[in-house]
Amino acid sequence: MYNPKSTIATEFIDDQEIRDTLRYADENKDNLELINRLIDKTDELKGLTHREAAVLLACEDKDALERIFAQATKIKQEFYGNRIVMFAPLYLSNYCVNGCTYCPYHKKNGHIARKKLTQEEIRREVIALQDMGHKRLALETGEDPVNNPIEYILESIKTIYSIKHKNGAIRRVNVNIAATTVENYRKLKEAGIGTYILFQETYNKEQYEKLHPTGPKSNYAYHTEAMDRAMQGGIDDVGCGVLFGLNLYRYDFVGLLMHAEHLEAVYGVGPHTISVPRLRNADDIDVNDFSNAISDELFQKIVAILRIAVPYTGLIVSTRESQRTREMVIKYGVSQISGGSRTSVGGYAEEDRMEEDSAQFEVSDHRTLDEVVNWLLKLGYIPSFCTACYREGRTGDRFMTLVKAGQIKNCCLPNALMTLKEYAEDYASPETKRLALEMIEKEVQTIPNDKVREIALKNLHGLDEGLRDFR
Ligand code: SAM
Repeated sequence: MYNPKSTIATEFIDDQEIRDTLRYADENKDNLELINRLIDKTDELKGLTHREAAVLLACEDKDALERIFAQATKIKQEFYGNRIVMFAPLYLSNYCVNGCTYCPYHKKNGHIARKKLTQEEIRREVIALQDMGHKRLALETGEDPVNNPIEYILESIKTIYSIKHKNGAIRRVNVNIAATTVENYRKLKEAGIGTYILFQETYNKEQYEKLHPTGPKSNYAYHTEAMDRAMQGGIDDVGCGVLFGLNLYRYDFVGLLMHAEHLEAVYGVGPHTISVPRLRNADDIDVNDFSNAISDELFQKIVAILRIAVPYTGLIVSTRESQRTREMVIKYGVSQISGGSRTSVGGYAEEDRMEEDSAQFEVSDHRTLDEVVNWLLKLGYIPSFCTACYREGRTGDRFMTLVKAGQIKNCCLPNALMTLKEYAEDYASPETKRLALEMIEKEVQTIPNDKVREIALKNLHGLDEGLRDFR
């Protein structure tokens, strides 16, 4: 039974409340008076409740939709400016004991090549990633207490942070591993992770149980309450998401926003990021076997409404999406993207780049990081390799307070420009370097505070002299 004051995710994210919300949304989908009022309300930058956002999602009025997209573009600009944070996934191991019906890592898949990187192989992967210019990683593994125990993850994080090569260094390691215990979350926090990411896949318990028939992940409550345990273990930056395509999108959209409300209500801090992955073909997985695929148009609408519903939460899109789709969703709200990604274990250091026999899913955007950076610059965005907030301890509610006060942009722009300059000097192709330097020269003048601008100019000059990693 829905209890708005519940401190437990599974009591708060209640099936009946989601169904009532969807009914309310259907009843109001043509109520333009309400819809326009809700859109106006997002001007306050305080977001929307799950009920309010659901009404906008149900709305099909052309003019109202145009207003929603315009509002999303405006709010995106307000909070994030034209910065786009760059990251790459790093697959450590695809051993998995779960039976997820949509993931090729499922235990019964007997022909996918199982691989687990040794610490030496991790070194090679990380050096390859550093040599591309990456500073921020998302670690990915299957769930396997024997092959991928927490000790292995912790050792790998330590290895990654310790690798310095030329001017390269990974400065923030986010972690996307299976739901675990408070104690293990505490260990991850102590190991210095950035965000703990866990996709809910679907909030519909019945559907969840069908999609996860076996293995530890089949426990809906344990999975759904993982962020509560992560918070209790001291991790205050958590990243939520659902895998669109598995279940009715409207249901999961409401569940996602209820999860964000729950975290905010109980821990005083909503999710740091929300990811919006869509199901992809993979080894023995055919998306046609799943009947809930969403169109590109709907995908854009979901991103735009998330942007205005949770304006302070970063939105992430991966290379599951094509260049064209990424261009649209960046406009409407996405603030972080991956680039040059390999979804296979050992994929970055492998000689043969077509070898995808251990890949988790097919990527749609095959461009190199340099090509992605070049493209962003040509579109007028600032690719940012910044990791400053996390390294300065601006996480959780400290980060959120700044964001909500609209303050974060005062330190984000100079940091983005400095890290872009590092990228330009150390890794970019000649054309990308030229575009980056032009962008930096133009944008540095827009830093409003005279003192901050002066420091940024001094640091940018320092980068010319060979200095790196200003903090
Ligand atoms: N094993 C961890 C867990 O159980 O949460 C997380 C790591 S898994 C490598 C990362 C995510 O990939 C999953 O949470 C799922 O949403 C996504 N994924 C799995 N199969 C996929 C597919 N066929 N297409 C797109 N994404 C997929």
